[in-house]
Amino acid sequence: MRRKLVVGNWKMFGRLMKNQALLQGVSEGVRQLKGADFAVCVPYPYLAQAQSMLQGGNVSWGAQNLSQFEEGAYTGEVASGMLVDFACSYAIIGHSERRALYGESDEIVAQKFAAAQQAGLTPILCVGETLAERESGVTEAVVARQLDAVIEGFGVAALARAVVAYEPVWAIGTGKTASPEQAQAVHAFIRQRMAKHDARVAENLCLLYGGSVKAGNAAELFAMPDIDGGLIGGASLVVDDFVAICRAAQQ
Ligand code: PEP
Repeated sequence: MRRKLVVGNWKMFGRLMKNQALLQGVSEGVRQLKGADFAVCVPYPYLAQAQSMLQGGNVSWGAQNLSQFEEGAYTGEVASGMLVDFACSYAIIGHSERRALYGESDEIVAQKFAAAQQAGLTPILCVGETLAERESGVTEAVVARQLDAVIEGFGVAALARAVVAYEPVWAIGTGKTASPEQAQAVHAFIRQRMAKHDARVAENLCLLYGGSVKAGNAAELFAMPDIDGGLIGGASLVVDDFVAICRAAQQ
């Protein structure tokens, strides 16, 4: 049986003092929750803080991006090996904000996915359609194209050591959550598509939903058969909300 996973994406929010209260609150709030896995993906400068405050507990930590290159003259970039130096477990790859605002193509996302895995990190590969794409009926085609970029480059086996997050762009930070049925339909599509390549990889794949998950809607989303947890933006910045979402993932 797949284990549920809840990951916070802090985006570009945080300050040392605020983070201290948030990390402490989350770490204490989920300490007794044994039936699921939890993580927070923090801005790069706070990885050391996350490491020192979370080590030894049951909340893992990670980054929100990385470079596709191992090292070199890439001013401003952060390599996968640097994340390993801070004991990161996860790296979010291909978040829609990176695709839209920083021009990350499917090919670049696939290269970043591989860089994360080669360093021993678990990539959280984000896929999802815009509102215009949903309204023109190409949701499945978009999600399939985004997944295929990784499968064609590195084989379906690469997804055995990864997490996929379905995040409809129209639901991210908008307060408009996909209904459990809408989310389930795309999750089922992703799993069925993977199963055509490898049934076992498909069955074991951890598939998160992301897009305005809140304390009040998490349980009904997580109850769907192909939703294995959530990638949480805004609500991961509020201790009580994030802990309540983590509690909803308990099995
Ligand atoms: C996200 O940033 O991945 C996200 C899902 O954000 P929010 O929960 O705020 O919609």
